Amino acid sequence: ASEQRFRAPPGSLRFRAGRFRAPGRGAAPGELAVDGVLVFLSFHGCRFYGVQLAFGVNGHGPGSEAQDRESLRDLQEFLGGEAPLHQLDDLTKVNPVTLETVLRCLQARYGADIFYTNAGCTLVALNPFKPVPQLYSTELMREYHTAPQPQKLKPHVFTVGEQTYRNVRSLIEPVNQSIVVSGESGAGKTWTSRCLMKFYAIVAASPTSWESHKIAERIEQRILNSNPVMEAFGNACTLRNNNSSRFGKFIQLQLNRAQQMTGAAVQTYLLEKTRVACQASNERNFHIFYQICKGASVDERLQWHLPEGATFSWLPNPEKTLEEDCFDVTREAMLHLGIDTPTQNNIFKGLVLAQALAGLLHLGNICFADSEDEGQPCQLKDEATCSIQTSALLLQIPEDTLLETLRIRTIRAGRQQQVFRKPCSRAECDTRRDCLAKLVYARLFDWLVSVINSSICADPDSWTTFIGLLDVYGFESFPDNSLEQLCINYANEKLQQHFVAHYLRAQQEEYAAEGLEWSFVNYQDNQTCLDLIEGSPISICSLINEECRLNPQLQTRIESALAGSPCLGHNRLSPEPSFVVVHYAGPVRYHTAGLVEKNKASTGLQPGGLMLHTQELPSCIRSPSDIFPESRDPVPPELTRLLQQSQDPLLMVLFPTNPEEKTQEEPAGQSRAPVLTVVSKFKASLEQLLQVLHSTTPHYIRCIKPNSQGQAQTFLQEEVLSQLEACGLVETIHISAAGFPIRVSHQNFVERYKLLRRFHSRTSPGTHDPHPATGRSEWPVHTKEAMLQPLVQDILHTLPGLTQAAATP
Ligand code: ATP
Ligand code: MG
Repeated sequence: ASEQRFRAPPGSLRFRAGRFRAPGRGAAPGELAVDGVLVFLSFHGCRFYGVQLAFGVNGHGPGSEAQDRESLRDLQEFLGGEAPLHQLDDLTKVNPVTLETVLRCLQARYGADIFYTNAGCTLVALNPFKPVPQLYSTELMREYHTAPQPQKLKPHVFTVGEQTYRNVRSLIEPVNQSIVVSGESGAGKTWTSRCLMKFYAIVAASPTSWESHKIAERIEQRILNSNPVMEAFGNACTLRNNNSSRFGKFIQLQLNRAQQMTGAAVQTYLLEKTRVACQASNERNFHIFYQICKGASVDERLQWHLPEGATFSWLPNPEKTLEEDCFDVTREAMLHLGIDTPTQNNIFKGLVLAQALAGLLHLGNICFADSEDEGQPCQLKDEATCSIQTSALLLQIPEDTLLETLRIRTIRAGRQQQVFRKPCSRAECDTRRDCLAKLVYARLFDWLVSVINSSICADPDSWTTFIGLLDVYGFESFPDNSLEQLCINYANEKLQQHFVAHYLRAQQEEYAAEGLEWSFVNYQDNQTCLDLIEGSPISICSLINEECRLNPQLQTRIESALAGSPCLGHNRLSPEPSFVVVHYAGPVRYHTAGLVEKNKASTGLQPGGLMLHTQELPSCIRSPSDIFPESRDPVPPELTRLLQQSQDPLLMVLFPTNPEEKTQEEPAGQSRAPVLTVVSKFKASLEQLLQVLHSTTPHYIRCIKPNSQGQAQTFLQEEVLSQLEACGLVETIHISAAGFPIRVSHQNFVERYKLLRRFHSRTSPGTHDPHPATGRSEWPVHTKEAMLQPLVQDILHTLPGLTQAAATP
């Protein structure tokens, strides 16, 4: 037996099937000789047993035939042998574990309409791209919830849900849990998180909420209602997903001592606010704009100045009809969020809200022409006069102030802080217009999230633990990558590190507690890559934060200052200024053009201002880092002042006139007040998220998109392969398989394999258990042999390696 020897303390017992010896009766002294397969056993008090498992000794031993067959099936499945690929519920069982075998297994399962597969501690979810109602029924939720061992049922998102839920409950000291859902755009992250929320709304429903409220007002229902609202405002149709989330989301489901859901809190990350003013061709703006245009009644059309057939430059591809275009659904959900202040209620009826949004659409139709006279403000293009009127009317701001703000920049300079007015170029006017829209939209989104939080967040005394669901962008690599991708990939790098560290640590701790000696295979440690991105004193983040104004200079600085990092890739081929980072999921080239400007864009004024927008953690999220500094975007003063003049009830809420909040003119010259850059804010919010995750027991779901066309029954190997690589799945499986792949409690093991004891007694000196049938202490080997033959053949057939071994003395 070449297997490693190990010991375990009381109460634990493990077995490990390794490379197998030939079946035979001539085992070394102290080993048990039984026909079958060699399995290593260890448990407290016994040093080491090489056991050749005998299957089919039923009739003689205490095990029944059914039990024996089950043991055999277990073993076969575990060895990845005969079981057809699609029956392999766990990817750690494919043999050998390679990208190719994993891919084949997933494909076989997909072909058999099996969409969930375990990969050790991770659940892999393939997007079916078709309705599979029976897979998500309430009955099935209850089945997983009530199963004695849900992990014995088919892999499912409900298994993860239930396991997580039990983890909270089963521990003496309750521990917060989190579920990290990742995958690329369109892979099914939002779908999966929604599904988990529905699951908890059923299994963790609080009885009081059933008694005391109307269904629509129950807290679980309110929490579920937050989804359509946030999706209407934060999701859009993109090339990759008709309902793509343009923000990351962490939702904390709050549980009381009785494990009932008493509330929830949401935090959002990285809202792509640029989309409100700029949409790629073939993509669309946020759903809400289409909803109001398509869902308005005749009266509302009049009121919101949205005549049938009107075209808006910020409303591309309106002819595309989506399920998500239904305003009534959003309206219903908003109403049922249970908001009780009259202002909010009024806004949430949708009327006020839609009016402001229509104002933004008209704002987008404002076009400027180059000024004929240098030093004079740009002219409005003819058709834009009407747009500016309507926009001002709908936003309830003075038309002339709107025009002035868009065209003229005020600068304070000199000792006396004199105010200068500087006409903007046409491009600057466009930028200011877009900025205004982004400002309104980002604040609106923040406000919505805060209203949702106030509606669903439980009183801090009413909950003790939480389950957090994280739905974030997956790793991204495009031909042209910029700051957005850098931030997203940086976040993924952090999450991967957290995953590996947590998983290995958990395993190591468990083995140490049981006294097992074990050394882990090398796994990819991405600390070096993180050092490159965020390390101190010098890293990509720090260099971007420095004012490296020129793009080539940023590239040179990165390449010279960070040359020692193995994760900085070679960059010789690119004609454009760029640098390459070797992420755990593969190398990505980042173009430096515009990167520094985007990083400063939290003032919102630079051209091409960044899409990222982070939000503070709601106060009701209790985390180790409640001290997180408040970080709201510094806002261009003229734009804020303009919006503060609005008489629109919504804008009045979003832009209150606060005498303490002194707005300052943009100072001229170099002496700008330091502002928090996008990267530093993002880094801080990411660190905070990780602290929250670290304080929980994490669970992982990796969503995979079988094809990029969104077609059912289509599994494109190339596309899946790149996703498997990007999420490091094979590594995960290796790590899972490096430890003990099967963990059985002592009691269960004894129950199932107690027949072994008989063999033990036969060969162990000093113990003489009589055979139950014959009463003799020696068991009749020949009888057993005859019975075992078919089974041994079965096993030999399963294991080509075994046949080979059998031939070797
Ligand atoms: P993004 O990053 O763009 O937000 P995502 O990973 O959140 O993408 P989803 O919006 O969750 O992707 O899923 C995309 C689409 O795939 C859904 O709108 C739905 O049509 C389909 N889909 C995903 N999961 C399932 C499922 N389990 N059953 C049926 N359809 C699904
Ligand atoms: Mg999504």
